[in-house]
Amino acid sequence: MTHTHPPARSSTEAPETNHARANPGRARFFPAASDAEWNDWRWQFKHRVTRLEELAALLPFPAKEWDMRREVLRDFRMGITPYYLALVDPEDPACPILRQVAPIVEEYVFRDVGDEDPLAEEQYSPVPGITHRYPDRVLMVISNSCAIYCRYCTRKRIMYEDAVPDVEIDRMVDYIARTKSVRDVVVSGGDPLTYGTKKLEGILAKLRAIPHLEIIRIGSRVPVSLPQRIDAELCEMLARYHPLWINVHFNHPRELTIEAAEACDRLSRAGIPLNNQAVLLKGVNDEVETIRQLCTGLMKMRVRPYYLYQCDPIRGGEHFRTPISKGIEIMEGLRGHTSGLAIPTYVVDAPGGGGKIPVGPNYLLHHDPKKKRAVLRNYQGRLFEYREPTGRAGPMTSKARRGGGELGPVASRPVVRERAADGNGGAEAGAESGANGNGKPRRAAGKSGWVHRGRSLEERLGPRKE
Ligand code: SF4
Repeated sequence: MTHTHPPARSSTEAPETNHARANPGRARFFPAASDAEWNDWRWQFKHRVTRLEELAALLPFPAKEWDMRREVLRDFRMGITPYYLALVDPEDPACPILRQVAPIVEEYVFRDVGDEDPLAEEQYSPVPGITHRYPDRVLMVISNSCAIYCRYCTRKRIMYEDAVPDVEIDRMVDYIARTKSVRDVVVSGGDPLTYGTKKLEGILAKLRAIPHLEIIRIGSRVPVSLPQRIDAELCEMLARYHPLWINVHFNHPRELTIEAAEACDRLSRAGIPLNNQAVLLKGVNDEVETIRQLCTGLMKMRVRPYYLYQCDPIRGGEHFRTPISKGIEIMEGLRGHTSGLAIPTYVVDAPGGGGKIPVGPNYLLHHDPKKKRAVLRNYQGRLFEYREPTGRAGPMTSKARRGGGELGPVASRPVVRERAADGNGGAEAGAESGANGNGKPRRAAGKSGWVHRGRSLEERLGPRKE
């Protein structure tokens, strides 16, 4: 068979995206910024919108909301880079970009709901800044600062303090050095990439000097919120500390700009695998189509969709939370409808420190380990029988030889066993109808003891027809 391939892209060519370079928000909100300023990450960082007055001057809101918005800023600071603010649609009162970073009335209404530390990170902290929850890996919080402050952040509690002192970082490194079981560290914050390159290199060098530490991962939202920071100097430095991975944090397809794509491309060219950790947020990305566009867009940027997190019950983030059924619905809408590589794992981080628990639609509807038989549902709702290996080599029906077959298109409910009365099912299922204990076929092919008929549960649970 002949395969046709698209022409190979040269190693220096930027990845294709659907996004135009022109950023209308920049001209609208920051008309005085020169190109040199706009592309300078330190200028972006310094000119973050941190006060309500600044935000209101660019994106006015009703006067009656002032006090409420001011009140929630007492609980959790605001910080929005000019670049990220320029992604906001000023005509959209429910803009998913703005909703992630601006204090809103809903946050005020629910301000007392939730926990300060919903994942009990402090409880699992052997030294300040380290969370050691899983056997072979630790979280290392080296920064209290981010380029933008996300209103749903799980780690709001650490964003009030000054920079993490060097002595504390040394204590964290020391813990990893003397804990031989740790082979993987997630360096996070805050955002580690808000540090200067030299300071960050100092920390990475100390980590890389630990013989048993195999993998360094960095968690960062900087490629989303401050892509200018991903410069050549940073990428060259990071490439000296491989194997090094970066987990990025895109939540919405509108964040997949050409600037972000180029930042990710620079990291990829430095040999750094990129994985995305999105958070499922009500009013931001709680639609199948939004997450599908996000995931397939990330794939074009060579970023693997890794996790879709259920939003943690953090205090002040209640208005972002969805029921778990929403996450399952989204996963159901992805699986089979797009490439498996574009499908993240939906996880609920168990409150109280239970760790990440994967949750998803159920595709295994019935499993009989004794009879070596399973019934599976595919993404279209079609049911298939799957025969597990029995270790027997005797004669069997052709379908049994193939390992099973389709049962029929039904809703996603458990299949019940019925004895075939009319032989119309065509489901020559498992040990029941295939080879029996002595390796002989129990029935002729096509006369199955298993049949799946009808669409309703009532029908399938109805009286046997003999
Ligand atoms: S960038 Fe990450 S750590 Fe910083 S506020 Fe947002 S979610 Fe929290």
